[in-house]
Amino acid sequence: MRGFFNIALRIDVSQRAFEIESIPDSLLKTTLGGKGLATHLLLKYNLPNVDPLGPENHLIFAIGPVTKTALWGSCRHGVYTKSPLTGCYAESYSGGTAAESMAATGADAIMVYGVSEEPVWLEIAENSVLFHPAGDLWGLDTYRTEDKVKAWLRENRPEAKKAGVVTIGPAGENQVAFAVIENDYWRSAGRTGVGAVLGSKKIKAIAFWGNRSKEIADPERMKQFAGDLAKVSKDNPGVKAYKTFGTPMLVDILNKAGGFPTRYWQKGRFERYQEINAAALHARCEVKPHACLKCLMACGRLSTVKEGRHKGLTLEGPEYETIYAFGGLCEVDRIEELLYLNDLCDRLGMDTITAGNLAAFTIEAVRKGRISYPIGYGDVDAIARLLEDIAARRGIGDTLARGIRVAADEWNLQAHAIHVKGLEPAGYDPRVLKGMGLAYGTSGRGACHLRATFYKPELTGMVDPNRIEGKAKVFAEWEDRLTLFDTLIICRFYRDLYQWEQLSSIIAAATGLDLGTGEMRAIAARVSSDTRRFNLREGLTAADDRLPIRFTTEALPESNSLISEDEMQVMLKEYYAERGWDDSGNPG
Ligand code: SF4
Repeated sequence: MRGFFNIALRIDVSQRAFEIESIPDSLLKTTLGGKGLATHLLLKYNLPNVDPLGPENHLIFAIGPVTKTALWGSCRHGVYTKSPLTGCYAESYSGGTAAESMAATGADAIMVYGVSEEPVWLEIAENSVLFHPAGDLWGLDTYRTEDKVKAWLRENRPEAKKAGVVTIGPAGENQVAFAVIENDYWRSAGRTGVGAVLGSKKIKAIAFWGNRSKEIADPERMKQFAGDLAKVSKDNPGVKAYKTFGTPMLVDILNKAGGFPTRYWQKGRFERYQEINAAALHARCEVKPHACLKCLMACGRLSTVKEGRHKGLTLEGPEYETIYAFGGLCEVDRIEELLYLNDLCDRLGMDTITAGNLAAFTIEAVRKGRISYPIGYGDVDAIARLLEDIAARRGIGDTLARGIRVAADEWNLQAHAIHVKGLEPAGYDPRVLKGMGLAYGTSGRGACHLRATFYKPELTGMVDPNRIEGKAKVFAEWEDRLTLFDTLIICRFYRDLYQWEQLSSIIAAATGLDLGTGEMRAIAARVSSDTRRFNLREGLTAADDRLPIRFTTEALPESNSLISEDEMQVMLKEYYAERGWDDSGNPG
């Protein structure tokens, strides 16, 4: 079968050893690589109930059959493990350039387990893994770590010209439960704490390089497909919008819809949204579109602050999710200050969505008299200090470093905390976008917006956001299509361009498999069920699919909207049936 190396690398960090495992075609046919393969490997190698921060927990990097091909949106890698934040299945994806370097090592999946006695960084090349001491890197931020590893490679491995490097920051070293794994400075496998797992193994960075390339079934067809897409997409309004405004365009859209989470989920509109939207970003910063490798959309914003105390600060961002988390939830009303907080999180190596949610939750805890800490809405410097405290695990920072559930328990604010399975939602309030309630409830990794990106059909009117009956059927189709994006590992912003027909062509060109929509959906559904099996094995029950109580009892003031328990129950019941699971969400 084409499109794969048929190889998984399994690295034992404790023993400083590795083995090469061959992956049969039969497994690749039923999983299509990426998420499908990684989930199979996690089920196989992770025993139930392992400590996420212990040696038995495997952390898996995976690429897909389209990686390092001509396909647009294909330079993306996935990271999979058991999450220290949720205790559930963890998956997170990152763009940039690293995926092609991973592919150059000649493995479809790279598994890491064990714990090193001393800090190390790994050099993974073709059929080789070297363990380098990382004492001099420990304590450095993510940018400086990447610089230093790349400088070492330039000096010692002149043949490794296109090495990709992933790193953790101080947050990952200190096993902050929502630490990220970063690459290309600003691209992150951002959610569910994959960086803490790497930190628990005392791995500061991993460099990937090599010269391997895999054969795909029909390179000419893939090139033709990519060429045709480049022509068609020139006039595509979605592509133009991403290229012109990036994800910050969503600030206006969500405010208009009344679903822009504000003041720790108490409101759905932020009066000062025009200070933090795409227009503000483009007016007050120098902005250039910035793309991952093999991307014609260039949704990234390479932004430099023009004036004020952060003048000259440059980073790729901020993305909509960072703007919502610090701008909406914490009411920070200057776009330049959002760049500053974004940069701080990137350097420390922590997820901006969870960090912003925790900062706002802390502000609420202070206002309710549960803790004493000098912080308030809009107080940027206090928020920055809190982020530093979390990364260093100082004072209340140590509580927050263990995630929202721990903080809510310690401060007796369980009913106020907004999360599903321990993961905070992204910036789409499910009280006005009810399909997002189903998304947050059912995603294997917690309150995730990406598995089906169901905000898209609900915001654009393709699906009535208030409809309940029949919604799960539409949702499952979106989820299936985007699950295939995660097995092939393609950027989801190509979702309008890669419908079922195009996915079938992509799979045929990469692997040689000739799959119709039904067969593709069956593969995706099996991957979703495997994800669910992993979580059930860890003790998850249907009760964990429920939304935070505030979403079902506290209406948004602007629209008087909420999502009731009954509405959730109807959608969940339909969803389990759609998936072929029993009434308690068990695939059997
Ligand atoms: S659309 Fe954005 S995230 Fe996706 S590949 Fe392009 S630049 Fe990267």
